[in-house]
This record gives sequence, C-alpha cells and structure tokens, in this order.
Amino acid sequence: MHFVQAKSLLSPKNGINIYRGCTHGCIYCDSRSECYQMKHDFEDIEVKENAPILLEQELKRKRHACMIGTGAMCDPYMHCEEKLCLTRKCLEIINKYGFGVSVQTKSDLILRDRELLAEINGKGKAVVNMTITTFDDKLCKIIEPRVCPSSRRFEVLKRFQESGVPTIVWLTPILPFINDTEENIADIVKGCGECGVKGIITFGGFGVTLRKGDREYFYRCLDSDFPGIKEKYVNRYGFNYELPSDNNGKLIGVFLKLCRKYGIMTDADEIFRYMFGFEEAAGKQLSFL
Ligand code: SF4
Repeated sequence: MHFVQAKSLLSPKNGINIYRGCTHGCIYCDSRSECYQMKHDFEDIEVKENAPILLEQELKRKRHACMIGTGAMCDPYMHCEEKLCLTRKCLEIINKYGFGVSVQTKSDLILRDRELLAEINGKGKAVVNMTITTFDDKLCKIIEPRVCPSSRRFEVLKRFQESGVPTIVWLTPILPFINDTEENIADIVKGCGECGVKGIITFGGFGVTLRKGDREYFYRCLDSDFPGIKEKYVNRYGFNYELPSDNNGKLIGVFLKLCRKYGIMTDADEIFRYMFGFEEAAGKQLSFL
C-alpha cells in the first residue's frame, strides 16, 4: 500500500475512486487491464489520502445535490479500508452535504456503515450494489478468493433490506465452462428475490470480457485452479474481447423468467435511471444547499 495526494476526486459523472488496485483477487478482474495504465502492482494499493478533503471541497462547489457513485473500478471496501476508513469518511461528507450515494462492493465490510447508509437514504437516496457471480461458496472462493463468499453477500443484502436501503446485484461476469449453468443463475436470482433486490444487472447476456493484462492473469489462474479450461477458452474464443457463454440463450430464459416472478428489474437502462435518479426529498435536504 502506498499513499498519494490526489489533485481531484470527482469524475465528470460524479464517480469517486478512493483507492487504485484491489486485494480481493478475483481471477477475471477487468481493472487489471493494461488500458488503465496502473503504474504500480495491482495489489500495492494506491491510497488517495486526501480523498475526504477533496470530496468536501468539490461537493461544496456543486449547485445541486446528486448521486455520487463509488466502486466501479476498485472495491471501496477492500481490506485496507478496515483501518483507513476513507470510504466511511467520504460517506460522512456525502451525508453532511445532503448528497445521495451508490456504492458497489463484494465485501461484508460495508455492514460497518449500514446505519450511515440508512441515514443517507432517509434524507435522499443510498443504493447498495453487490456483485454476485457464483452461488456455490466453494467455487466462489476459487474465483473470488479474498473476499467474503456469496452466502455472506446475501446476508448483507438481507441486512440492508431490513434497513430499508435498496439493493442492486451485478450478476456479471459469468465464466464460460465454469459457472455458466442454469442452476447457478437460478440460485442467484432466487437468493436475490428472497432479499428484496430491486434490480439485477447482466448487460443483456452472460459471459466475460478479457483484455491485455486481465487475460494473462485470468489464464494463469485457470492453469492453476481449472486445469484444461484455458485451452477451451483459446480454442473457442481466440483473443476476442467479448467471450459470451455458449449457454447464453438458455441462461437468459431462466434469468428473465425468475426475475419476472420476483418482480426484479432487468433492463440496465431502467436500473441505472433508478440508481442515479436523485429527487431531493422535500424538507429532507440540508438547508445550506
Ligand atoms: S473486487 Fe472488483 S476490483 Fe477487486 S479484484 Fe474483484 S473484480 Fe477486481
């Protein structure tokens, strides 16, 4: 881990990344791709030490409150957050200035901030996004080795349901020849239904994308954890960026049927509108905005 003083924090679309790199070890991680030009080892986390100060300055300059997003590039609740609490400090600032927040993670450490997220949601909106790709915990522990297993992530979703904080699940990526089974998709959707998840994001199909940097790491992991599967990938997909599952049609059928049953949104545009729409709740926003 190393510390830097960042010059700015908020992206043009109101996203923040407090950390660069990640210690969760997902074998398919797109954030490892060379196109992101990370100049340090992926596990040597770059910490934007002044993130809360920058965020406060940048929110003060905004004319209207809106949703702030975090977790798109690197998990805001990776291991170092437990001690550093920078994500928490940023949430406190978001709360102080009456903004909303959408947080994406795979970690149960987010439960530490449950009350704070519920408070933000009470004033405006907080949305918890949890990525779940593999219902079977044993398989999950191989694919996403250094973060809590899927069963625990469902418990997290349940806890936020109890707090009245809406949740979205990212059911992506799905890995061909590994977890692209009807059983896996059905079990995850049923689990989401039981936890009152509002929407599930799949981007319209099931598969994975691979780019330079990400692909090499993924193939090394396949060689050590799934002998013989890399060869199947190479033969079937070559160096393609998009690697759709051959079971895609069947999986979509199972997915849509169950989502309809549980009343879960599946259209990505509709889910993003829901996630990032921020109507100021009358009388709830802080007066100094
Ligand atoms: S949690 Fe996200 S950023 Fe971290 S290793 Fe997994 S896919 Fe990559």
